[in-house]
Amino acid sequence: MTRGVPDSCPGALRLHEAADGPLARIRVPGGRLDSAQLQALAESARDLADGNIELTSRGNVQLRQVRDAAELTDRLAAVGLLPSRTHERVRNIIASPLSGRVGGLSDVRALVPALDAGLLAAPRLADLPGRVLFTLDDGRGDVSGLGADIGVHAICAEEFALLLAGRDSGVRLPAADTVDVMLAAAHGFLELRGEDAGRWRLDDIEQGADRVVDLLGLSPVADRLELPGARSLPIGWLEQDDGLVSLGAGVRLGCLPARTAEFLAAVERSIFVTPWRGLVVTDLEEWAAEQVVRVLAPMGLIFDADSPWLLVSACAGQPGCAKSHTDVRADVSDAVDTGRVLPAAYPIEHGADDRHSEPEDSAHQHVSERPPIAATDISVAGRQHWSGCDRRCGRPRGEVTDIVATDKGYRID
Ligand code: SF4
Repeated sequence: MTRGVPDSCPGALRLHEAADGPLARIRVPGGRLDSAQLQALAESARDLADGNIELTSRGNVQLRQVRDAAELTDRLAAVGLLPSRTHERVRNIIASPLSGRVGGLSDVRALVPALDAGLLAAPRLADLPGRVLFTLDDGRGDVSGLGADIGVHAICAEEFALLLAGRDSGVRLPAADTVDVMLAAAHGFLELRGEDAGRWRLDDIEQGADRVVDLLGLSPVADRLELPGARSLPIGWLEQDDGLVSLGAGVRLGCLPARTAEFLAAVERSIFVTPWRGLVVTDLEEWAAEQVVRVLAPMGLIFDADSPWLLVSACAGQPGCAKSHTDVRADVSDAVDTGRVLPAAYPIEHGADDRHSEPEDSAHQHVSERPPIAATDISVAGRQHWSGCDRRCGRPRGEVTDIVATDKGYRID
């Protein structure tokens, strides 16, 4: 399959012209930010953008309404967030955020900078589309279900499964070979893609995964793993294996205010942006962890696993996206604030109630005929994604109720 046009994923240098102004996306391999980087992002958000740092579903960050792109570039480069002008959009690396600290079968922390360095060192790999995703799962199964083009999944401390196009290839690798094989697979993808820039993902190439395995001279040797479905990060207090503490924090709609980010930077620990659009603050002594919760919970960070904010996600909507029928973030925020986002086990009310009472075989037809629902009448239980149009950008994987804006109101799918 070809999409006919090159991918237009934004970057830190190639900004996207959103409806509310230029948008910059900054790649953060493994989601790891040190305190200087987080401080620089917070200051940039406040001085040069709309005052917030948006967390993306690939563990990257983005700034909206960027007023001075050149100044932003200088600030990012000064703290190591722009190590290459040619490869900046290809550094899409997600790793298990708790690896090496809490559980997991292997420690993948060192693989992230090694893979990143390998990408940056290969001029040809600058041609990878900005959509290509790499994952490094330490065996707990938290990121292997994200559909990476090229990934590895720990079977034990020293052996990894090679994942291609979102599936286990059946190839097994010693830990020491993982990065080299992932880089070779990236070259293989480019070779198979040829001159067709309309192929953005390995899955866009027929039999792409099998052909990459052949190109690498490898062979499947094991039954293919069933990769785990989407997972979400534990929230709150997480005991590390070394006796320190990590804190898993939810971020409302993945939007981190600059002031909150500055407080986080002042903690002076590594912070991980997760693919669930949240954060992990690592390596805290117990007293420091208690302080972080005491200060940052009132500022809006979520340390309570039962918070309804953890059930909701939303696309950009208005005013950021011209396609949006409404301000979905305001609508979903109102639903949370007025108690209309219900726990998963709660009986479903209003529009969603009718839908779920329908027999499955007639549900689709019935949905299309249903009258639209006003935002203030929507009350839905469990995980839900609100979208400003049918494209449903940012929809999480797995079981999610879709709440989609139309020109006359919302539809619940
Ligand atoms: S789902 Fe539609 S309205 Fe929302 S960001 Fe995507 S294109 Fe825009």
